[in-house]
Parts: sequence; C-alpha cells; structure tokens
Amino acid sequence: MRFADIPGNDDVKRALSGMADSGRVAHAMLFYENEGCGALPLVLAFFQYLNCQDRRDGDSCGECPSCRQISKLIYPDMYFVFPVNSGTRVSSSEKPVSDTYLKYWRELVLADPYFLESELYSELGIEGKAGNIAVAEAKSVLEKLSLSPVGSGYRAVVIWLPEKMNAEAANRLLKIVEEPPEKTLFLMVTHAPEKVLQTIFSRCQSFRVLPMDKEEVAQTLQTRFSVSAEQARVYANVSGGSVGAALTMIGDRADYDEYMSIFEKLMQAVRSKDLLTALEAGEDMSALKSREKQKGFCAFAEDCIRKVYMIRHGMASVSNATEDEIQLLSGLAAGSRDVFCDRVAGYLDSAAAQIDRNVNAKIVFCDLVNRIFMTY
Ligand SMILES: [Zn+2]
Repeated sequence: MRFADIPGNDDVKRALSGMADSGRVAHAMLFYENEGCGALPLVLAFFQYLNCQDRRDGDSCGECPSCRQISKLIYPDMYFVFPVNSGTRVSSSEKPVSDTYLKYWRELVLADPYFLESELYSELGIEGKAGNIAVAEAKSVLEKLSLSPVGSGYRAVVIWLPEKMNAEAANRLLKIVEEPPEKTLFLMVTHAPEKVLQTIFSRCQSFRVLPMDKEEVAQTLQTRFSVSAEQARVYANVSGGSVGAALTMIGDRADYDEYMSIFEKLMQAVRSKDLLTALEAGEDMSALKSREKQKGFCAFAEDCIRKVYMIRHGMASVSNATEDEIQLLSGLAAGSRDVFCDRVAGYLDSAAAQIDRNVNAKIVFCDLVNRIFMTY
C-alpha cells in the first residue's frame, strides 16, 4: 500500500512522511477514525514508507523487497494484534490469539483494508461474540519483541482496536509501549479513543483520520472495488465518508432491507398509536441474528432519525437520504414533535451501548420501543 493509493487525509500523510524523513519517529501512535475511513491503509502505507529502500516524492516505491513484503502483509517484522474470540474456525481447546487467525486477517485486509469490525468477526467465524484482546495476546507480543528483528529496518506491532484490550493485557504491555526496543513501533487504529485505556492512550501520539469526502469515497469504490459509477455515487452520498460503510451497504443490501422493514413497521405503528405492533417490531429487533446486527440496526435507525430531522428542517437535499428514503421518512418528519429526533437518537445510542454490554436484547428493545412510542 502506498500513500498514493489512499485518497484524502493529506495532512496526516505529510506528518507521517515528514516524521519518517526526519528520522524522528514516535514509537507509539494512535490513529483515530470512524469505521472504514482508511486508518489501517494509512498505517500500512506509513510502515511501508518507513522501510522502503527507494523512497520517492514522499511515497514508497512499491517495488523494493520490503515494499513488496509489507504490501502482501508477510513482512517478518510486522505483527498484527486484533480482537478475537473462540469460534467455529479454531478448535475449542485452543485459547485464540491474533496469530491463530492470521490467515483470515491477511485475506480480509488484502481484499478490503476498509473493513468494519463486524466484517472482521464474520471473517474469523466469531459472529455474535464480541472480540477482545486478552492477556494471552499481550504475552505473545512480548515474546515476539524479546527476539531480535529479522531485518535491519523498523519493526511494528499494529494493534487494530486497542479499545478491546482488557486491563490485564494493557498492564502487561504498558512498559514496552512506553519504552520499546530500538526501531520498534506500536501503531494503533481506534474507533473509540475514549474507550482506550488511559494508561495506553497517554503514551501515544494521536492522529485524527478524517472521513473522506464524497468524491474520494466514490473514486475509491470505483477504482479499487470496481463498483459502477452510478452505484458509487449513490452509496458515497450515504457513506458518511467511510468506504467501509459504503461497501457494507452495497454488499449487505439484504441487511439494509431487513433493517428498513423493521424500522418502517415500528414507525408506522408509532404513528398509528398501535403499541402491539410496535412491540412486535421490538421483537424483530431482538430476533436479529447477532449482537453486531442488533447494534447495526440501532446505527441504521439513528441514521434514519437524523435524516428525519434534516427533512423536518427543510434540509432534505443535504441529508444524504435517497429518493425512496425521503418519501418514506417525510411522513414521519411531518407528524413528529420537536423533541422527537433528539430524544430518539439518544435512546438508540443507549440501546446500542446496552447491547454491547450484553444486556438481554428483548429487554433492551422492548424498553426502546416503549420510549420511542411515548415520545412521538
Ligand atoms: Zn520500496
């Protein structure tokens, strides 16, 4: 991956290449992005640039041996840490660490480095479970770093989602993150910096990876993922600047339809004051196959509510809503009270957070539906 392969975020690229050129490289860095906005590709491009034997115009050559190895994710001095759990693809007696799943990780990153957290879990066969970074992982990292690097260049531990690290694992890593061996870097990508343990966070230099603009998303969808120009334009519009989100919507049209039908059912019931049907919609939410999907529904519904708000305030054209959505949501926008959008967005947020904390989905969604029903 070269910087040139990643559109946008020129300031971050400049800061990174400048750091590499000056030789003053921070040993722990945290890249904060909204899911699917390209922080992992930037990390890979940066590491490739650092180790490139023939840097040109602020970018790696893409052709030297280390460029080739890094772009294939087989560079011997680059380790990956990501949240895992036990699942169908490993034997149940094994305590899984990232290396257990390395093959699947590589396949996923090479095919689409903009993947979302839920896509990683389905790739690893741990759908329906939350991944985490446990102490066994910390031990494995320490073990690797106790050995000498294979090459003479930089070595990196890439940690994808350090917010999934528990306190015990973080404590084990603290010292080495603070004072790593020479030319050893910790490169972390987070979607929730506020959830990264403070002890780790405070040792990192942070970078904000911004969402791409619509043209950049559309361009990436077309050139890298062979999406048609028309589809690229439509989904770039509703992607929130995330290539990963756009790809998921394109790939998961089935999810979208499923979410939309539940949302529609709920809102029609709310508008016609039909509590029974509204509660049925709540049942449908808790019947969604995995917790990732249940959270996915909450995010989807919140996005719809945001669009309702925009439509209510005469901003339909900048709401990122498709024509079909505008038609559908306009009725809801016209009949709702002023406080509706604001409050419901909050309810959806807290429902997603409760699902994340393993609260019983039936209880969460029954309560959510009640609140939405009362607020309309
Ligand atoms: Zn090179």
